[in-house]
Amino acid sequence: MTPTKTAGRVLSQGAPDFDAALRDSSFNAQDPGHRPKLIVQAREVADVVAAVKRARDEGLRISICSGGHSWAQNHFREGALLLDLSRLNLIVLDEANGTAKIGPGCLAGDLDKALARRNLFFPTAHAYTVGMGGFLLQGGFGWNSRALGLACQSVIGVDVVLADGSIVHATERENPELLWAARGAGPGFFGVVVQFHLRLHERPKFIGLKLQVFRIRHLEEVMAWADAVGPEVPASVEFQMVMNRRAMGIFAHGLEVYGPVLTNSRREARDAVRFIDQGPFRKKASLTLPLLPVSLGFMMNSGEKTLFLPNTRWTTDSMWMDTPISPMLPAMRDIADSQPPAPSHALWLNWNPPASRPDMAFSLEARTYIALYGGLRGKTQRPADETWATDHMQALQPHSRGIQLADENLGRRPAPFMAPANLTRLEALRARFDPDGRFNSYMGRPA
Ligand SMILES: Cc1cc2nc3c(=O)[nH]c(=O)nc-3n(C[C@H](O)[C@H](O)[C@H](O)COP(=O)(O)OP(=O)(O)OC[C@H]3O[C@@H](n4cnc5c(N)ncnc54)[C@H](O)[C@@H]3O)c2cc1C
Repeated sequence: MTPTKTAGRVLSQGAPDFDAALRDSSFNAQDPGHRPKLIVQAREVADVVAAVKRARDEGLRISICSGGHSWAQNHFREGALLLDLSRLNLIVLDEANGTAKIGPGCLAGDLDKALARRNLFFPTAHAYTVGMGGFLLQGGFGWNSRALGLACQSVIGVDVVLADGSIVHATERENPELLWAARGAGPGFFGVVVQFHLRLHERPKFIGLKLQVFRIRHLEEVMAWADAVGPEVPASVEFQMVMNRRAMGIFAHGLEVYGPVLTNSRREARDAVRFIDQGPFRKKASLTLPLLPVSLGFMMNSGEKTLFLPNTRWTTDSMWMDTPISPMLPAMRDIADSQPPAPSHALWLNWNPPASRPDMAFSLEARTYIALYGGLRGKTQRPADETWATDHMQALQPHSRGIQLADENLGRRPAPFMAPANLTRLEALRARFDPDGRFNSYMGRPA
């Protein structure tokens, strides 16, 4: 059989630029040691089709990256054909219909910038450089997602290159099972999404941030308070706390209490975050800022300059939790005591999802979300720093309902990430659409 000619730039293992191309494809600076056999840097959809056919002809499995922000570096698979979609980053807005078409390599911040100019909105990821491809596929806890729903709920269609090289369009009417899977399968999706069709929203008229910072000695009382008030916090507030060894304003180990708020007026926002000023421990806070109007672009960029530093070796892990936090406070103290230096941090997020969501692959969430982001730079860390995130989440397994694919660590610690019935349905779809297992599936399980 004549091998299918692969378009786009193709790099074979051993080529001079191969290692640099692989490194550039990942936000995480870890080197897990896995090397694909080929990297195809697609420039157009035809390159994707050709690469899928070449993988079939040469018996290679396919791994995919869009923005390369998978903490777990899901696309680093030994001997695979790595399809790098970062250059498929077009944004086409249809203002009249309130929709957009975007390539999977489009960055969250670039999409928001294009929308802001037109007073439109989409629940993009919180950091500028996150790729919309992986973000949308795994569900997508985006800006204002507590009010608007997960980002994938605003995906109204996908164009997918399947394992046989065909291109199909999926909506709720046409190939609905593919759209069902694309809303939450994340790193286990069994095709290449080359275009997302999005429903846009009106831009909130006021975007602001409320911030309060406590020294870490107040951890237990502040966390217990946050956990208790969480269910009453309006959906317009992304109430969260970050445990940081270099906390904002105090440059010491502390707990940053954040209330980003997206509403239609400053007054509404002030009312929504008032609970922070009225907290019983407010007098113990080392820093309390008034509600400040800030642009989304500023918040997206500053997150990457403070918490989510590039050139860092990251290991993350997470848990969804339905039970109150009080029995876990000693464990939270252990997490704080053993926390590696910044930019490592721990996130507590008030989620409290709605009672129901549309039927889609994404199907596991709970009242509270906890994630640990172990970020190591340089060579000074202790061996325990390397496994900080995994070890603590493993220890808290009895309190966990499962993990979120956004922060998955399945290669090191398999854990539930979808309702069992949805996973069964997803695997049946995989068997139908990718019978030869051409696309790599979740790490930590067979392809
Ligand atoms: C700094 C930072 C901030 C983040 N903030 C948020 C946040 O606010 N909310 C949130 O929900 N998550 C967040 N995440 C997690 C992020 O959404 C996921 O890691 C997501 O997978 C990143 O998308 P990507 O395209 O950049 O990643 P990639 O690493 O390119 O993709 C991840 C996996 O998705 C699959 N995939 C990607 N593109 C395609 C495609 N086109 N077709 C088929 N499969 C594909 C592949 O299996 C790939 O390995 C953040 C991550 C980082 C590093």
